[in-house]
Amino acid sequence: MSENSLIMNYINGEWRKSSATNYLDVVNPATAEILGKVPLSPGSEVQEAARLANEAFAEWRRIPAPNRIQYLFKMKELLEENFEDISRTITMECGKAIGESRGEMRRAIENVEVACGIPMMMMGDFSEDIARGIDEIMIRQPVGVCAIISPFNFPGMIPFWFLPYAIATGNTVIVKPSEKVPLTMVKVFEILEQLDLPPGVINLVNGDKEAVDAILDHPAIRAISFVGSTAVAKYIYARGAANGKRVQAQGGAKNPIIILPDADMEMTTCITADSAFGCAGQRCLAASVAITVGDARHTYTEAIAEAAASRVVGYGLDEAVQMGPVITVPSKDRVESLIQQGADEGATVLVDGRSASISGYESGNFVRPTILANINPAGELAKTEIFGPVLSLMHVNTIDDAIQLVNSGQYGNMACLFTNSGAAARQFRYEAQAGNIGINIGVAAPMAFFPFSGWKESFFGTLHGQSKHAVEFFTQTKVVVERWPKEWSRQF
Ligand code: NAD
Repeated sequence: MSENSLIMNYINGEWRKSSATNYLDVVNPATAEILGKVPLSPGSEVQEAARLANEAFAEWRRIPAPNRIQYLFKMKELLEENFEDISRTITMECGKAIGESRGEMRRAIENVEVACGIPMMMMGDFSEDIARGIDEIMIRQPVGVCAIISPFNFPGMIPFWFLPYAIATGNTVIVKPSEKVPLTMVKVFEILEQLDLPPGVINLVNGDKEAVDAILDHPAIRAISFVGSTAVAKYIYARGAANGKRVQAQGGAKNPIIILPDADMEMTTCITADSAFGCAGQRCLAASVAITVGDARHTYTEAIAEAAASRVVGYGLDEAVQMGPVITVPSKDRVESLIQQGADEGATVLVDGRSASISGYESGNFVRPTILANINPAGELAKTEIFGPVLSLMHVNTIDDAIQLVNSGQYGNMACLFTNSGAAARQFRYEAQAGNIGINIGVAAPMAFFPFSGWKESFFGTLHGQSKHAVEFFTQTKVVVERWPKEWSRQF
Protein backbone atom coordinates (compact mmCIF):
# COMPACT_ATOMS: atom_id res chain seq x y z
CA MET A 1 0.00 0.00 0.00
CA SER A 2 1.17 3.53 -0.69
CA GLU A 3 -0.22 7.03 -0.42
CA ASN A 4 -2.22 6.72 -3.63
CA SER A 5 -3.30 3.08 -3.34
CA LEU A 6 -7.03 2.70 -3.63
CA ILE A 7 -8.41 0.07 -1.27
CA MET A 8 -10.72 -2.42 -2.94
CA ASN A 9 -13.75 -4.38 -1.81
CA TYR A 10 -13.83 -8.17 -1.85
CA ILE A 11 -17.12 -9.45 -3.20
CA ASN A 12 -18.01 -12.94 -4.40
CA GLY A 13 -14.45 -14.17 -4.36
CA GLU A 14 -12.83 -11.27 -6.24
CA TRP A 15 -11.31 -7.86 -5.54
CA ARG A 16 -13.45 -5.11 -7.02
CA LYS A 17 -12.70 -1.44 -7.39
CA SER A 18 -15.43 0.56 -5.71
CA SER A 19 -17.52 2.98 -7.74
CA ALA A 20 -17.35 5.38 -4.75
CA THR A 21 -16.96 9.04 -5.53
CA ASN A 22 -15.53 9.73 -2.07
CA TYR A 23 -12.31 8.24 -0.72
CA LEU A 24 -10.79 8.97 2.70
CA ASP A 25 -7.09 8.95 3.52
CA VAL A 26 -5.99 6.17 5.85
CA VAL A 27 -3.44 7.82 8.10
CA ASN A 28 -0.76 6.35 10.36
CA PRO A 29 -1.63 8.09 13.67
CA ALA A 30 1.99 8.11 14.87
CA THR A 31 3.70 9.41 11.73
CA ALA A 32 0.83 11.13 9.83
CA GLU A 33 1.93 9.14 6.76
CA ILE A 34 -0.93 8.39 4.33
CA LEU A 35 -1.14 4.62 3.95
CA GLY A 36 -3.86 4.37 1.33
CA LYS A 37 -7.30 5.60 0.37
CA VAL A 38 -10.49 3.90 1.51
CA PRO A 39 -13.68 4.07 -0.55
CA LEU A 40 -16.94 5.17 1.02
CA SER A 41 -18.77 2.52 -0.94
CA PRO A 42 -22.28 3.35 -2.15
CA GLY A 43 -25.23 1.35 -0.82
CA SER A 44 -25.52 -0.38 -4.20
CA GLU A 45 -22.23 -2.22 -3.52
CA VAL A 46 -23.56 -3.57 -0.23
CA GLN A 47 -26.71 -4.64 -2.05
CA GLU A 48 -24.65 -6.47 -4.66
CA ALA A 49 -22.57 -8.16 -1.94
CA ALA A 50 -25.75 -9.16 -0.07
CA ARG A 51 -27.32 -10.60 -3.23
CA LEU A 52 -24.24 -12.68 -4.05
CA ALA A 53 -23.71 -13.75 -0.41
CA ASN A 54 -27.32 -14.91 -0.38
CA GLU A 55 -26.78 -16.95 -3.54
CA ALA A 56 -23.67 -18.48 -1.98
CA PHE A 57 -25.61 -19.28 1.20
CA ALA A 58 -27.90 -21.71 -0.65
CA GLU A 59 -24.98 -24.04 -1.35
CA TRP A 60 -22.70 -23.25 1.65
CA ARG A 61 -25.34 -24.29 4.20
CA ARG A 62 -25.45 -27.74 2.55
CA ILE A 63 -21.74 -28.37 3.14
CA PRO A 64 -21.59 -30.58 6.27
CA ALA A 65 -20.29 -28.75 9.36
CA PRO A 66 -17.30 -31.14 9.73
CA ASN A 67 -16.28 -30.16 6.19
CA ARG A 68 -16.89 -26.45 6.77
CA ILE A 69 -14.53 -26.41 9.73
CA GLN A 70 -11.70 -27.81 7.59
CA TYR A 71 -11.52 -24.25 6.21
CA LEU A 72 -11.10 -22.97 9.77
CA PHE A 73 -8.16 -25.28 10.50
CA LYS A 74 -6.49 -23.87 7.41
CA MET A 75 -7.57 -20.33 8.43
CA LYS A 76 -5.76 -20.72 11.74
CA GLU A 77 -2.64 -21.95 9.95
CA LEU A 78 -2.66 -18.97 7.56
CA LEU A 79 -3.22 -16.46 10.35
CA GLU A 80 -0.33 -17.99 12.34
CA GLU A 81 1.94 -17.84 9.28
CA ASN A 82 1.10 -14.16 8.76
CA PHE A 83 0.80 -13.26 12.44
CA GLU A 84 3.61 -10.72 12.55
CA ASP A 85 2.69 -9.07 9.27
CA ILE A 86 -0.93 -8.55 10.35
CA SER A 87 0.14 -7.32 13.80
CA ARG A 88 2.42 -4.71 12.21
CA THR A 89 -0.38 -3.54 9.95
CA ILE A 90 -2.59 -3.06 13.02
CA THR A 91 0.06 -0.94 14.71
CA MET A 92 0.67 1.11 11.58
CA GLU A 93 -2.93 2.08 10.99
CA CYS A 94 -4.30 1.98 14.55
CA GLY A 95 -1.30 3.17 16.55
CA LYS A 96 -1.19 0.65 19.40
CA ALA A 97 2.06 -0.84 20.68
CA ILE A 98 3.19 -3.90 18.72
CA GLY A 99 2.77 -6.20 21.74
CA GLU A 100 -0.86 -5.06 21.98
CA SER A 101 -1.39 -5.83 18.29
CA ARG A 102 0.05 -9.29 18.79
CA GLY A 103 -2.26 -9.84 21.76
CA GLU A 104 -5.20 -8.77 19.62
CA MET A 105 -4.33 -11.22 16.85
CA ARG A 106 -3.80 -14.02 19.38
CA ARG A 107 -7.39 -13.56 20.58
CA ALA A 108 -8.62 -13.43 16.97
CA ILE A 109 -7.00 -16.81 16.31
CA GLU A 110 -8.41 -18.26 19.55
CA ASN A 111 -11.87 -17.53 18.18
CA VAL A 112 -11.07 -19.56 15.06
CA GLU A 113 -9.89 -22.42 17.29
CA VAL A 114 -13.07 -22.37 19.39
CA ALA A 115 -15.29 -22.24 16.29
CA CYS A 116 -13.62 -25.48 15.11
CA GLY A 117 -15.83 -27.17 17.72
CA ILE A 118 -19.01 -26.10 15.93
CA PRO A 119 -20.05 -29.56 14.69
CA MET A 120 -20.64 -30.47 18.33
CA MET A 121 -21.74 -27.02 19.52
CA MET A 122 -24.51 -26.79 16.92
CA MET A 123 -25.90 -30.25 17.59
CA GLY A 124 -29.62 -30.31 18.28
CA ASP A 125 -31.80 -32.14 20.82
CA PHE A 126 -33.95 -35.20 20.41
CA SER A 127 -36.69 -36.48 22.64
CA GLU A 128 -38.24 -39.86 21.98
CA ASP A 129 -41.88 -40.69 22.82
CA ILE A 130 -43.03 -37.23 23.91
CA ALA A 131 -46.36 -39.00 23.50
CA ARG A 132 -46.75 -42.63 22.51
CA GLY A 133 -44.95 -43.13 19.17
CA ILE A 134 -44.22 -39.44 18.67
CA ASP A 135 -40.71 -37.95 18.68
CA GLU A 136 -39.66 -34.32 18.91
CA ILE A 137 -36.40 -32.95 17.50
CA MET A 138 -34.77 -29.55 17.76
CA ILE A 139 -32.28 -28.76 15.00
CA ARG A 140 -30.13 -25.68 14.44
CA GLN A 141 -29.96 -24.11 11.01
CA PRO A 142 -27.95 -21.10 9.82
CA VAL A 143 -29.80 -17.79 9.50
CA GLY A 144 -28.50 -16.61 6.11
CA VAL A 145 -26.33 -13.61 5.26
CA CYS A 146 -24.74 -12.03 8.36
CA ALA A 147 -23.09 -8.60 8.56
CA ILE A 148 -20.26 -7.55 10.86
CA ILE A 149 -19.74 -3.82 11.48
CA SER A 150 -16.60 -3.09 13.49
CA PRO A 151 -14.93 -0.13 15.24
CA PHE A 152 -11.43 1.28 14.83
CA ASN A 153 -9.79 0.13 18.05
CA PHE A 154 -9.40 -3.63 17.37
CA PRO A 155 -9.30 -3.94 13.57
CA GLY A 156 -7.98 -7.51 13.66
CA MET A 157 -9.74 -9.10 16.62
CA ILE A 158 -13.30 -7.80 16.59
CA PRO A 159 -14.42 -9.21 13.21
CA PHE A 160 -13.19 -12.59 14.53
CA TRP A 161 -15.58 -12.45 17.50
CA PHE A 162 -18.17 -13.30 14.86
CA LEU A 163 -16.80 -14.40 11.47
CA PRO A 164 -15.50 -17.92 12.31
CA TYR A 165 -18.73 -18.85 14.12
CA ALA A 166 -20.94 -17.40 11.39
CA ILE A 167 -19.35 -19.32 8.55
CA ALA A 168 -18.78 -22.55 10.50
CA THR A 169 -22.51 -22.65 11.31
CA GLY A 170 -23.29 -22.34 7.59
CA ASN A 171 -23.92 -18.63 7.09
CA THR A 172 -22.26 -16.27 4.64
CA VAL A 173 -20.75 -13.00 5.80
CA ILE A 174 -20.20 -9.36 4.85
CA VAL A 175 -17.60 -7.46 6.92
CA LYS A 176 -17.75 -3.66 7.04
CA PRO A 177 -14.60 -2.49 8.92
CA SER A 178 -14.10 0.96 10.39
CA GLU A 179 -13.18 3.39 7.63
CA LYS A 180 -10.38 4.66 9.90
CA VAL A 181 -8.54 1.29 9.87
CA PRO A 182 -9.50 -0.68 6.75
CA LEU A 183 -6.04 -2.07 5.93
CA THR A 184 -5.97 -4.87 8.50
CA MET A 185 -9.06 -6.58 7.07
CA VAL A 186 -7.78 -6.06 3.52
CA LYS A 187 -4.59 -7.88 4.55
CA VAL A 188 -6.59 -10.61 6.32
CA PHE A 189 -8.85 -11.12 3.30
CA GLU A 190 -5.82 -11.27 0.96
CA ILE A 191 -4.49 -14.05 3.18
CA LEU A 192 -7.85 -15.81 3.46
CA GLU A 193 -8.11 -15.93 -0.34
CA GLN A 194 -5.74 -18.91 -0.11
CA LEU A 195 -8.53 -20.85 1.62
CA ASP A 196 -10.37 -21.18 -1.69
CA LEU A 197 -13.69 -20.76 0.02
CA PRO A 198 -16.64 -20.87 -2.39
CA PRO A 199 -17.19 -17.36 -3.83
CA GLY A 200 -19.55 -15.23 -1.73
CA VAL A 201 -18.99 -16.97 1.62
CA ILE A 202 -16.88 -14.08 2.96
CA ASN A 203 -17.14 -10.55 1.61
CA LEU A 204 -15.56 -7.23 2.53
CA VAL A 205 -17.21 -3.88 1.82
CA ASN A 206 -15.53 -0.67 2.95
CA GLY A 207 -17.43 2.47 3.76
CA ASP A 208 -19.21 4.52 6.38
CA LYS A 209 -22.82 5.31 7.27
CA GLU A 210 -24.16 4.81 3.75
CA ALA A 211 -22.80 1.25 3.62
CA VAL A 212 -24.11 0.57 7.13
CA ASP A 213 -27.58 1.86 6.26
CA ALA A 214 -27.66 -0.41 3.21
CA ILE A 215 -26.82 -3.34 5.53
CA LEU A 216 -29.59 -2.35 7.92
CA ASP A 217 -32.16 -2.23 5.16
CA HIS A 218 -31.26 -5.19 2.96
CA PRO A 219 -33.83 -7.99 3.32
CA ALA A 220 -31.33 -10.79 2.58
CA ILE A 221 -29.15 -9.77 5.54
CA ARG A 222 -30.66 -11.66 8.46
CA ALA A 223 -28.27 -10.89 11.33
CA ILE A 224 -26.06 -7.98 12.32
CA SER A 225 -23.12 -7.99 14.75
CA PHE A 226 -22.09 -4.45 15.62
CA VAL A 227 -19.35 -3.11 17.87
CA GLY A 228 -18.81 0.64 18.34
CA SER A 229 -20.06 3.64 20.26
CA THR A 230 -23.33 3.55 22.19
CA ALA A 231 -25.10 6.16 20.06
CA VAL A 232 -24.48 4.15 16.89
CA ALA A 233 -25.19 0.81 18.67
CA LYS A 234 -28.64 2.08 19.66
CA TYR A 235 -29.33 3.20 16.11
CA ILE A 236 -28.18 -0.14 14.64
CA TYR A 237 -30.25 -2.09 17.14
CA ALA A 238 -33.42 -0.06 16.54
CA ARG A 239 -33.25 0.08 12.74
CA GLY A 240 -32.03 -3.50 12.34
CA ALA A 241 -34.77 -4.83 14.62
CA ALA A 242 -37.42 -2.70 12.89
CA ASN A 243 -36.38 -4.47 9.69
CA GLY A 244 -36.85 -7.87 11.34
CA LYS A 245 -33.18 -8.79 11.75
CA ARG A 246 -31.51 -10.30 14.78
CA VAL A 247 -29.02 -7.78 16.14
CA GLN A 248 -26.26 -7.86 18.73
CA ALA A 249 -24.84 -4.37 19.30
CA GLN A 250 -21.93 -3.74 21.65
CA GLY A 251 -21.57 -0.12 22.71
CA GLY A 252 -19.30 2.24 24.62
CA ALA A 253 -18.21 2.28 28.24
CA LYS A 254 -17.01 4.29 31.21
CA ASN A 255 -15.32 1.70 33.37
CA PRO A 256 -14.88 2.17 37.13
CA ILE A 257 -12.35 0.47 39.35
CA ILE A 258 -12.50 0.44 43.16
CA ILE A 259 -9.37 0.38 45.32
CA LEU A 260 -9.78 -0.66 48.96
CA PRO A 261 -7.16 0.27 51.58
CA ASP A 262 -6.12 -3.38 52.04
CA ALA A 263 -5.18 -3.83 48.36
CA ASP A 264 -1.59 -4.67 47.43
CA MET A 265 -0.72 -1.17 46.24
CA GLU A 266 2.27 -2.03 44.07
CA MET A 267 0.36 -4.67 42.13
CA THR A 268 -2.77 -2.50 41.96
CA THR A 269 -0.84 0.46 40.57
CA CYS A 270 0.89 -1.61 37.93
CA ILE A 271 -2.32 -3.35 36.82
CA THR A 272 -4.50 -0.25 36.80
CA ALA A 273 -1.92 1.76 34.84
CA ASP A 274 -1.96 -0.95 32.17
CA SER A 275 -5.75 -0.99 32.22
CA ALA A 276 -6.10 2.79 31.89
CA PHE A 277 -3.28 3.48 29.42
CA GLY A 278 -3.09 0.28 27.36
CA CYS A 279 -4.00 1.02 23.72
CA ALA A 280 -3.84 4.71 24.76
CA GLY A 281 -7.07 4.21 26.69
CA GLN A 282 -8.89 3.31 23.48
CA ARG A 283 -10.34 0.05 24.79
CA CYS A 284 -13.94 -0.51 25.73
CA LEU A 285 -12.59 -2.36 28.80
CA ALA A 286 -10.12 0.38 29.82
CA ALA A 287 -10.22 1.64 33.40
CA SER A 288 -11.53 5.17 33.28
CA VAL A 289 -12.45 6.15 36.84
CA ALA A 290 -10.57 4.94 39.93
CA ILE A 291 -12.60 5.16 43.14
CA THR A 292 -10.39 5.03 46.22
CA VAL A 293 -11.92 4.01 49.54
CA GLY A 294 -10.66 5.33 52.91
CA ASP A 295 -6.90 5.35 53.32
CA ALA A 296 -6.28 4.05 49.79
CA ARG A 297 -6.63 7.62 48.58
CA HIS A 298 -3.15 8.90 49.39
CA THR A 299 -1.06 5.85 48.64
CA TYR A 300 -2.82 5.11 45.36
CA THR A 301 -2.89 8.70 44.11
CA GLU A 302 0.82 9.13 44.58
CA ALA A 303 1.70 5.76 43.04
CA ILE A 304 -0.55 6.03 39.97
CA ALA A 305 0.68 9.56 39.24
CA GLU A 306 4.21 8.24 39.17
CA ALA A 307 3.27 5.29 36.96
CA ALA A 308 1.44 7.60 34.52
CA ALA A 309 4.34 10.01 34.24
CA SER A 310 6.86 7.24 33.58
CA ARG A 311 4.99 5.43 30.80
CA VAL A 312 7.02 5.12 27.59
CA VAL A 313 5.09 6.81 24.78
CA GLY A 314 6.03 6.62 21.10
CA TYR A 315 5.62 4.80 17.80
CA GLY A 316 4.17 1.37 18.48
CA LEU A 317 6.54 -0.48 16.14
CA ASP A 318 9.35 0.31 18.59
CA GLU A 319 9.38 -2.73 20.95
CA ALA A 320 10.25 -0.51 23.94
CA VAL A 321 7.15 1.65 23.54
CA GLN A 322 4.30 1.03 26.01
CA MET A 323 1.73 3.42 24.58
CA GLY A 324 1.03 4.82 21.10
CA PRO A 325 -1.02 7.77 19.84
CA VAL A 326 -4.79 8.20 19.71
CA ILE A 327 -6.44 7.47 16.40
CA THR A 328 -7.01 10.87 14.74
CA VAL A 329 -6.34 14.57 15.18
CA PRO A 330 -10.02 15.20 16.12
CA SER A 331 -9.70 12.41 18.75
CA LYS A 332 -6.66 14.11 20.24
CA ASP A 333 -8.46 17.47 20.28
CA ARG A 334 -11.51 15.86 21.90
CA VAL A 335 -9.49 14.10 24.62
CA GLU A 336 -7.60 17.30 25.41
CA SER A 337 -10.78 19.35 25.60
CA LEU A 338 -12.33 16.78 27.97
CA ILE A 339 -9.27 17.10 30.23
CA GLN A 340 -9.89 20.84 30.26
CA GLN A 341 -13.57 20.27 30.97
CA GLY A 342 -12.63 18.12 33.98
CA ALA A 343 -10.39 20.91 35.25
CA ASP A 344 -13.18 23.45 34.68
CA GLU A 345 -15.51 21.24 36.72
CA GLY A 346 -13.09 21.38 39.66
CA ALA A 347 -10.65 18.49 39.13
CA THR A 348 -6.92 18.81 39.75
CA VAL A 349 -4.80 17.90 36.71
CA LEU A 350 -2.22 15.86 38.59
CA VAL A 351 -0.41 14.56 35.51
CA ASP A 352 -1.08 16.52 32.34
CA GLY A 353 -0.61 14.65 29.05
CA ARG A 354 -1.71 17.48 26.78
CA SER A 355 0.53 19.12 24.19
CA ALA A 356 2.70 16.02 23.99
CA SER A 357 5.53 16.05 21.50
CA ILE A 358 7.39 12.84 20.76
CA SER A 359 10.84 13.26 19.32
CA GLY A 360 10.87 12.03 15.71
CA TYR A 361 7.07 11.82 15.62
CA GLU A 362 6.06 15.44 16.03
CA SER A 363 3.11 15.04 13.63
CA GLY A 364 1.59 12.12 15.58
CA ASN A 365 -1.63 12.34 17.58
CA PHE A 366 -0.01 11.79 20.95
CA VAL A 367 -1.60 12.47 24.32
CA ARG A 368 0.50 11.32 27.27
CA PRO A 369 -1.08 9.53 30.25
CA THR A 370 -3.12 11.95 32.30
CA ILE A 371 -4.41 11.79 35.89
CA LEU A 372 -7.29 13.97 37.04
CA ALA A 373 -7.79 13.94 40.81
CA ASN A 374 -10.98 14.78 42.71
CA ILE A 375 -13.28 14.86 39.72
CA ASN A 376 -16.79 16.08 40.35
CA PRO A 377 -19.06 12.98 40.52
CA ALA A 378 -21.96 15.07 39.24
CA GLY A 379 -19.94 16.63 36.39
CA GLU A 380 -19.97 15.69 32.71
CA LEU A 381 -16.48 14.21 32.82
CA ALA A 382 -17.60 11.56 35.31
CA LYS A 383 -20.16 10.34 32.76
CA THR A 384 -18.51 10.82 29.38
CA GLU A 385 -16.50 8.08 27.68
CA ILE A 386 -13.15 9.78 27.02
CA PHE A 387 -11.52 7.00 24.96
CA GLY A 388 -8.04 8.34 25.61
CA PRO A 389 -5.24 7.79 28.17
CA VAL A 390 -6.96 9.59 31.03
CA LEU A 391 -7.65 8.15 34.48
CA SER A 392 -9.94 10.16 36.74
CA LEU A 393 -9.84 9.74 40.52
CA MET A 394 -12.74 9.94 42.99
CA HIS A 395 -12.84 9.21 46.68
CA VAL A 396 -15.46 7.70 49.03
CA ASN A 397 -15.43 6.35 52.59
CA THR A 398 -16.99 2.89 52.27
CA ILE A 399 -17.24 0.04 49.80
CA ASP A 400 -21.03 0.47 49.78
CA ASP A 401 -20.63 4.06 48.59
CA ALA A 402 -18.13 2.91 45.95
CA ILE A 403 -20.44 0.20 44.60
CA GLN A 404 -23.28 2.69 44.53
CA LEU A 405 -21.13 5.00 42.40
CA VAL A 406 -20.24 2.11 40.07
CA ASN A 407 -23.91 1.24 39.62
CA SER A 408 -25.04 4.82 39.07
CA GLY A 409 -23.36 4.99 35.63
CA GLN A 410 -25.21 4.55 32.34
CA TYR A 411 -22.76 1.93 31.06
CA GLY A 412 -22.05 -1.60 32.30
CA ASN A 413 -19.11 -2.98 30.35
CA MET A 414 -16.53 -3.57 33.07
CA ALA A 415 -15.88 -2.93 36.76
CA CYS A 416 -12.93 -3.98 38.93
CA LEU A 417 -12.14 -4.27 42.61
CA PHE A 418 -8.70 -4.36 44.23
CA THR A 419 -8.63 -5.84 47.72
CA ASN A 420 -7.33 -8.64 49.93
CA SER A 421 -10.75 -9.27 51.45
CA GLY A 422 -12.72 -12.25 50.21
CA ALA A 423 -15.92 -10.86 51.69
CA ALA A 424 -15.51 -7.54 49.87
CA ALA A 425 -14.71 -9.35 46.63
CA ARG A 426 -17.83 -11.50 47.00
CA GLN A 427 -20.02 -8.47 47.68
CA PHE A 428 -18.60 -6.67 44.66
CA ARG A 429 -18.97 -9.62 42.30
CA TYR A 430 -22.55 -10.05 43.46
CA GLU A 431 -23.68 -6.40 43.37
CA ALA A 432 -21.68 -4.65 40.62
CA GLN A 433 -23.80 -3.92 37.57
CA ALA A 434 -21.37 -4.74 34.77
CA GLY A 435 -21.00 -7.63 32.36
CA ASN A 436 -17.23 -8.08 32.85
CA ILE A 437 -15.80 -8.08 36.37
CA GLY A 438 -12.18 -8.03 37.50
CA ILE A 439 -10.98 -8.89 41.01
CA ASN A 440 -7.37 -7.80 41.48
CA ILE A 441 -6.96 -7.78 37.72
CA GLY A 442 -7.79 -5.47 34.84
CA VAL A 443 -10.23 -6.98 32.37
CA ALA A 444 -8.95 -7.97 28.94
CA ALA A 445 -11.29 -9.27 26.24
CA PRO A 446 -12.61 -12.57 27.60
CA MET A 447 -11.20 -15.84 26.28
CA ALA A 448 -12.94 -16.95 23.10
CA PHE A 449 -14.91 -19.68 24.88
CA PHE A 450 -16.59 -17.05 27.10
CA PRO A 451 -19.13 -14.52 25.83
CA PHE A 452 -18.08 -10.86 25.69
CA SER A 453 -20.65 -9.68 28.18
CA GLY A 454 -21.79 -6.11 28.50
CA TRP A 455 -24.72 -4.63 30.40
CA LYS A 456 -26.87 -1.51 30.38
CA GLU A 457 -25.91 0.97 27.63
CA SER A 458 -22.81 -1.06 26.75
CA PHE A 459 -24.86 -3.74 25.01
CA PHE A 460 -28.12 -4.02 23.10
CA GLY A 461 -29.38 -7.50 22.41
CA THR A 462 -29.47 -10.85 24.19
CA LEU A 463 -26.72 -13.05 22.79
CA HIS A 464 -23.14 -11.77 22.97
CA GLY A 465 -20.13 -12.31 20.72
CA GLN A 466 -17.86 -15.39 20.99
CA SER A 467 -18.49 -18.80 22.62
CA LYS A 468 -21.79 -20.70 22.74
CA HIS A 469 -23.58 -17.36 22.50
CA ALA A 470 -22.21 -16.96 18.97
CA VAL A 471 -23.43 -20.41 18.01
CA GLU A 472 -26.91 -19.50 19.19
CA PHE A 473 -26.83 -16.10 17.53
CA PHE A 474 -25.81 -17.50 14.16
CA THR A 475 -28.31 -20.36 14.16
CA GLN A 476 -32.07 -20.54 14.34
CA THR A 477 -33.81 -23.43 15.99
CA LYS A 478 -36.38 -25.57 14.24
CA VAL A 479 -38.53 -27.99 16.21
CA VAL A 480 -39.83 -31.02 14.35
CA VAL A 481 -42.47 -33.32 15.77
CA GLU A 482 -42.93 -36.59 13.94
CA ARG A 483 -44.85 -39.83 13.95
CA TRP A 484 -44.82 -42.67 11.45
CA PRO A 485 -47.91 -44.62 10.29
CA LYS A 486 -46.68 -47.87 11.81
CA GLU A 487 -46.66 -46.23 15.24
CA TRP A 488 -50.13 -44.80 14.59
CA SER A 489 -51.57 -48.23 13.81
CA ARG A 490 -50.02 -49.66 17.00
CA GLN A 491 -52.25 -47.40 19.06
CA PHE A 492 -55.42 -49.20 17.99
P1 NAD B 1 -18.19 4.24 15.96
O1 NAD B 1 -19.49 3.98 16.59
O2 NAD B 1 -17.87 5.62 15.54
O3 NAD B 1 -18.01 3.33 14.64
C1 NAD B 1 -18.26 1.95 14.65
C2 NAD B 1 -18.73 1.50 13.27
O4 NAD B 1 -19.99 2.15 12.98
C3 NAD B 1 -17.79 1.86 12.14
O5 NAD B 1 -17.72 0.78 11.25
C4 NAD B 1 -18.44 3.09 11.50
O6 NAD B 1 -18.20 3.16 10.10
C5 NAD B 1 -19.92 2.88 11.77
N1 NAD B 1 -20.64 4.15 11.99
C6 NAD B 1 -20.16 5.27 12.59
N2 NAD B 1 -21.12 6.22 12.64
C7 NAD B 1 -22.23 5.68 12.09
C8 NAD B 1 -23.55 6.17 11.85
N3 NAD B 1 -23.91 7.39 12.22
N4 NAD B 1 -24.43 5.36 11.25
C9 NAD B 1 -24.09 4.10 10.88
N5 NAD B 1 -22.84 3.59 11.08
C10 NAD B 1 -21.92 4.36 11.66
O7 NAD B 1 -17.08 3.68 16.97
P2 NAD B 1 -15.50 3.85 16.89
O8 NAD B 1 -15.13 5.26 17.20
O9 NAD B 1 -14.98 3.23 15.65
O10 NAD B 1 -15.05 2.90 18.10
C11 NAD B 1 -14.97 3.33 19.43
C12 NAD B 1 -16.21 2.98 20.21
O11 NAD B 1 -16.44 1.58 20.16
C13 NAD B 1 -16.08 3.31 21.70
O12 NAD B 1 -17.28 3.86 22.14
C14 NAD B 1 -15.81 1.97 22.34
O13 NAD B 1 -16.19 1.87 23.70
C15 NAD B 1 -16.64 1.07 21.49
N6 NAD B 1 -16.20 -0.31 21.56
C16 NAD B 1 -16.98 -1.17 22.25
C17 NAD B 1 -16.59 -2.48 22.39
C18 NAD B 1 -17.42 -3.46 23.17
O14 NAD B 1 -17.12 -4.64 23.11
N7 NAD B 1 -18.45 -3.04 23.87
C19 NAD B 1 -15.39 -2.92 21.80
C20 NAD B 1 -14.63 -2.00 21.10
C21 NAD B 1 -15.05 -0.69 20.97
